Amino acid sequence: MKLKYCFYNNVLRVNIIWIGIDDTDSVSGGCTTYVIYSLIQKLVEQEYDIIGYPRLVRLNPNIPWKTRGNGALALQIGRSIGKTIRIGSTHNQNIVACSILKKDLSSSEYTAVKSLVQSIIERYAKTDDQNTNPGFVLLNKKPSQRLYTTAVQEIVHLTDVVSLLKSHDALYKGYKNKRGLIGATAAIAWSPRSDKTFELITYREQDRWGTKRIVDNDSVQQMDKACTNTFDNYDYTNKHNRLVPHSPCPILYGIRGEHPTDLISAKSMIISEQTMGFLLFETNQGTDDHLQKKTIQDIQPYQSVIVSGTVVSPPRTIPGGHVLFSIDDATGTIDCAAYEPTKQFRNVIRELTIGDRVDVYGGVREQPITVNLEKINIRSLIQIREKTENPVCSRCGKHMKSRGTNQGYKCKRCGTTKNKPKTKPRKRSIKTGFYEVPVCARRHLSKPLKRM
Ligand code: ATP
Repeated sequence: MKLKYCFYNNVLRVNIIWIGIDDTDSVSGGCTTYVIYSLIQKLVEQEYDIIGYPRLVRLNPNIPWKTRGNGALALQIGRSIGKTIRIGSTHNQNIVACSILKKDLSSSEYTAVKSLVQSIIERYAKTDDQNTNPGFVLLNKKPSQRLYTTAVQEIVHLTDVVSLLKSHDALYKGYKNKRGLIGATAAIAWSPRSDKTFELITYREQDRWGTKRIVDNDSVQQMDKACTNTFDNYDYTNKHNRLVPHSPCPILYGIRGEHPTDLISAKSMIISEQTMGFLLFETNQGTDDHLQKKTIQDIQPYQSVIVSGTVVSPPRTIPGGHVLFSIDDATGTIDCAAYEPTKQFRNVIRELTIGDRVDVYGGVREQPITVNLEKINIRSLIQIREKTENPVCSRCGKHMKSRGTNQGYKCKRCGTTKNKPKTKPRKRSIKTGFYEVPVCARRHLSKPLKRM
């Protein structure tokens, strides 16, 4: 190993270790947040200190090889001192983190942490699933935030990540196709500087994994109404409890919100089966970090975009209940879709008409290239006029007769013709402003209007 760190008395010292982990789970079970939860317990047993909150970092939501929510995890450890914050619990024991570094770690501790991380990954990762390609990374310096931005907005190449890891003298290991190294490194690169939220995740007792979850819907609704600093808890229209996942993973529920203390209060309101404990994560969820402002000609598949344009084809419902329309800007035309899972949001989209000006927000699907709507800002609505009566002849003062579809009108007495009937403006049933998909269809990274 090439060493670049601080040396005291010829012993390598590092003052902090960043640990990144990704791609340990599969659709049939597992959860990378639980791997971190287990790792933290082992690290605490071995008297390492957790520095700050662990991080749950959502990456590009459109990459085809993700398992579910494309989440990667990062954690900072060291030897610290001073005030502690509660970041979780396990079997009624608090898990705490500190913020002030006390002393450095030695190189042997650095490699011992690597062995510990490796043993936890190898115990929990679902490597028998062909789509699970775990990776873990230990760094003593954060990579540039640029890596995170690319990983949340674009496609990152493994070779670039491996070069970066080598140049940073990282300790790392990738399994199978090693793709997990991408998310593991990008999670460390995230700096929660401009915007961030928190998620409190509770874990089920192991003997309950894979069984039906018991979480009382009424208590979730009460918490949702009382804890206004939380978001995306319950979809009242579609009767969907968004706290609870639907995979056989160890998570019982997760509550998202602005502040860790509010989340701990929110948790105390949820009536549920017994949990093993919980962990608080600092996250990029609900921040819109995945979105890039683009003109239509610059849009690439797998990006998530904000595009301003004018509606050029009226919304149409296709088999499956999906609603499609097209917009154009000065550079091109693109289809936009409100898919069936977006439920009532489609009713808003159906009310758009040619000439309306909109900003669409969404992920770009490749074949055919389409913006999959997460929200829409209707900037202006054109005036639609509706017929009230046939036109009146200006000579005879009598109503004219229609000459047939699209053929105008003619006065029966004097033969005067007119093209258009009398009209009045029709009241539009939608207004300008933002509309978003319901909570049941929300993507992890989408910023709810409540946060905007
Ligand atoms: P879960 O959210 O349940 O943990 P997941 O949806 O996060 O699962 P993973 O199993 O982590 O999915 O798979 C995503 C894979 O894609 C990981 O290997 C990760 O490193 C990789 N990846 C993430 N973002 C990008 C990106 N922008 N470019 C290329 N690969 C990426």
